[in-house]
Amino acid sequence: MKYDVVIGLEIHAELSTQSKIFCGCAQQFGAETNSLCCAGCSSFPGALPLLNKRAMEYAVIAGLCLNCKINSYSAFDRKNYFYPDLPKAYQVSQFFYPICSDGYLEVKGKKIRINRIHVEEDAGKLIHDEYLGVSLADYNRGGVPLIEIVTEPDITSAEEASEFAEMVAYNLRYAGVCDAKMEEGSLRCDVNISLKPQGSKELGVRAEIKNLNSFKSIERAIEYEIKRQSEILDRGEKVKQETRRFNDNNGRTIPMRSKEEAEDYRYFPDPDIPAILFTEEQLKEIAKKVPLLPQQRFDIYTNQYGLPPADAKLLLTKKDYSDFYNESVKIYNNYKDTASLFIVELFRLINDYGYDGEFKFTPAQFAKLVKMLDDGKITKAAQKAILGYMFNEGKDPEDIAKERGLIIENDIEAVQKAIAEVIAENPKAVEQYKSGIEKVFGFLMGQTARKVGKSASPSIIREYLIKALQD
Ligand SMILES: [Zn+2]
Repeated sequence: MKYDVVIGLEIHAELSTQSKIFCGCAQQFGAETNSLCCAGCSSFPGALPLLNKRAMEYAVIAGLCLNCKINSYSAFDRKNYFYPDLPKAYQVSQFFYPICSDGYLEVKGKKIRINRIHVEEDAGKLIHDEYLGVSLADYNRGGVPLIEIVTEPDITSAEEASEFAEMVAYNLRYAGVCDAKMEEGSLRCDVNISLKPQGSKELGVRAEIKNLNSFKSIERAIEYEIKRQSEILDRGEKVKQETRRFNDNNGRTIPMRSKEEAEDYRYFPDPDIPAILFTEEQLKEIAKKVPLLPQQRFDIYTNQYGLPPADAKLLLTKKDYSDFYNESVKIYNNYKDTASLFIVELFRLINDYGYDGEFKFTPAQFAKLVKMLDDGKITKAAQKAILGYMFNEGKDPEDIAKERGLIIENDIEAVQKAIAEVIAENPKAVEQYKSGIEKVFGFLMGQTARKVGKSASPSIIREYLIKALQD
């Protein structure tokens, strides 16, 4: 039988605030075990929460990046369950009044709707020591601010799911609210998946696959589930509603527990945390902090600047790169040559020497280097060499060119003399050119350039040769 695949995602993203959501402890990946904890975030009875304002602001920014409606009123609730990574036996989350709702993100022209985004605290981490046969608890992660992005079941394939998650990661990273490093767990994804007979209106029974930590495993886990569930349905049996875990080594999912429903958690408003109210003005101020997002930049690069899509994508791999390029073309608007100097030469240097978050030269200096070639002050080879010096030493391109004798002096007299000679020596070619056979121009240009040598740039030679041939 043929089936339709129905997928919804729940993406957990850690907000990159300096401190945790309900206490002043720092949040940092890879710190010494249990070194970033206080009474609050290690769940001592009686410890009271104090809300981190920045975390709420970041959640609003995330919502704006994902085209959500921002709710000026939101509130925190307690989600009750016990697990050793959360010893106070409840997680503070937003159930009844989430901060954002009704958003969407477009993946390859298709709108994937976002039901809601809510804010919550992360739990600690259990480390299972197989050698000693014990589990150890690290509460450093406890109380780190999280947002949970919940989609509608609009996704219909493994590929679409991982593309959506990747787009979310991209947007959050650009907005600076989450570093979205799946390998460090700052972005994690749960997948809800069910199958139904093709064309059927009724939804099938779903399985939830927890904590996928790479885009690849999102895809693999979904592909495995489609196969597993369709085999069950083909046999005429029923899929069990349950939570499953994905094993990265063998590519299979295994049952963890039967799925809880919302009522199992006995949500109720947290009496220790006042509701959150944003005024119109506050929301407007926060909206100003949302940068141009990757998709918007892509549209500008390809539609307005005329860059090939592949080049646009390369410039967008890092927000830093895209910002630098944007600044540079603002100063000198040769979009294509700036992009190709960036993609071909600068990326090669980054590849060879690395990039530590900052270039030694400014966008204005980069723009100047592009313009120097256009003005015929340097050759293409010199431009490449100068960029190398800029990258490693961080000096002005003009200073470097002067110091190293790379400026073309443009000896106009020599150019004119050479052109006169070439015209005298090649009357037939000149006649052909004048009668409209333009391809001989290259030949005449080559002859002149050979005579001129390095004392003028090709663009100057070309300019004077065209003039002379028109006379
Ligand atoms: Zn703390």
